[in-house]
Amino acid sequence: MQDGSSRRRFLQRALQQVAAASVIVGFDPTAGSWVTAAAADAAASGFSRLPELDGTLFLDGPQLDAAQDDFGHIVHRRPVAVLLPGSIQDIVKAVRFARRHELQVAMRGISHAPFGQAQVENGIVIDSSSLAELGAVHTSGAGGWIDVEPGVQWRAVIQAAFAQGLTPRVLTDFQGLTVGGTLSIGGIGGTSQRFGVQADNVLELEVVTGKGERVTCSESQRPDLFNAVLAGLGQSALIVRARLPLIPAPAQVRVFNLFYDSIDVYVQDQLRLLARGSFDHLQGQVVPHPSGTGWRFMIEAGAYFTPPQAPNPTALLAGLKDVRADATDVTQSYLDFAFRLDPLIAFLISIGVWDFPHPWMDLFVPASAAPGFVGGVLADLTAADVGGGPILFYPIDTRRMRRPFFRLPDERRAFLFSLLRTADPPTPETVLAMLADNREIYDQLVALGGTRYANGAIPFDPQDWRRHFGERFRDLRQAKRRFDPDRILTPGQGIFPRQT
Ligand SMILES: Cc1cc2nc3c(=O)[nH]c(=O)nc-3n(C[C@H](O)[C@H](O)[C@H](O)COP(=O)(O)OP(=O)(O)OC[C@H]3O[C@@H](n4cnc5c(N)ncnc54)[C@H](O)[C@@H]3O)c2cc1C
Repeated sequence: MQDGSSRRRFLQRALQQVAAASVIVGFDPTAGSWVTAAAADAAASGFSRLPELDGTLFLDGPQLDAAQDDFGHIVHRRPVAVLLPGSIQDIVKAVRFARRHELQVAMRGISHAPFGQAQVENGIVIDSSSLAELGAVHTSGAGGWIDVEPGVQWRAVIQAAFAQGLTPRVLTDFQGLTVGGTLSIGGIGGTSQRFGVQADNVLELEVVTGKGERVTCSESQRPDLFNAVLAGLGQSALIVRARLPLIPAPAQVRVFNLFYDSIDVYVQDQLRLLARGSFDHLQGQVVPHPSGTGWRFMIEAGAYFTPPQAPNPTALLAGLKDVRADATDVTQSYLDFAFRLDPLIAFLISIGVWDFPHPWMDLFVPASAAPGFVGGVLADLTAADVGGGPILFYPIDTRRMRRPFFRLPDERRAFLFSLLRTADPPTPETVLAMLADNREIYDQLVALGGTRYANGAIPFDPQDWRRHFGERFRDLRQAKRRFDPDRILTPGQGIFPRQT
């Protein structure tokens, strides 16, 4: 991490930004207090003017407690109401009601975002877990498609598709995330090198805009709205249904772990594999060096196959310069591979660490800067600085990622570099130090042409967002004006504060 004076400076900055965003840092949920006149008005009216709903509206109780927390356990904003919608029409009614009463609204998936992104202070949280219906799998030619509601978890989509011999094109590493949640931020995984992010792999959406309009959109029907919603951070509309394309699923995956002691050689080999495209799944990590000091690098490359076909390791690994004596490989069923994180997460839950704060940070580093930048960060980083959490480091082809608001470095090849930190010990001091460190590393990266994945815990203000979206900011602001003119949707991202 940083030296004492720069750490203090960044801590101060992080605290100021946190305060400016009226975020409360701590681990005890705050008591909700209705501070705005509009919220008080809505509360006083007991939401009596809200038309009859098919679902349930909670004005108190555990639903509100849950809605003011997330996987990060860093930010806590208490809503005035949580809606468990019984129908899409409920969402239309809630959004229109919120707009009339100047309340803000966010859809909540399973709240695995780490920094309050799905929270709304004094507003309405729409909990999509009650909208978790999975349509039938439709097959067409060699593939097919499936319609899903936003609260469906990817696990269910994968299982339903696999039962028909199919799979979504891009899987995240963990399948307990919701379709609505990952489509709103992007959704990156080991096949993104080939297919882009999950938001690049959608045939059609049904959404409810910030005006309370229910609209169907696709590449050919209202493409302006379609492109504003996918990886659009919930700023223009809420996703209420998605049609996802499916491709043939393999029966098995042979996964190779290849180790490197040199970051330069690692980066070269990763880029070689990216260019070859011979592996279906391509990821990689920075892992503690077995000597007990420093780091080493690991490519995780998976070849999909269905017997009697089988991968040819000689061809797949030809020309790579890893420490071959340390290489390992394992063959798993496709579903075991898709759900490979489940045992680890079950273990972390069992020892209580899953409930610790998670100041995660995901960055996109231009390939040309990757060895120097990542090497520099790692030189100052210890395993304690990430609380033992994983460090992802793998290449992507930026041309595959086409959604306008998914911001990437201006180079054809880039690396995802993620510090998936656990605050251990789980104290406010540890959290603040990690947040400050995130911010400092992010600033260094931006100077090199890098960007962030919009899911992390980096203290950020509207100016930072403006810089993040760069030449696309005007388009985003225009979409906001058109689809959510009163700025009611997804305020937890902090992009469009209401007062400006
Ligand atoms: C263990 C773990 C593993 C992960 N692995 C990956 C990975 O491999 N790849 C990856 O890309 N990410 C990964 N993530 C990050 C994850 O994609 C994000 O945290 C995502 O936001 C989580 O989705 P969620 O369903 O919990 O959404 P939430 O956290 O509930 O919501 C996220 C954001 O989307 C908005 N939103 C939710 N639903 C909707 C909707 N229907 N319409 C509009 N806006 C909506 C929310 O308001 C919020 O702003 C991982 C996270 C965890 C905890």
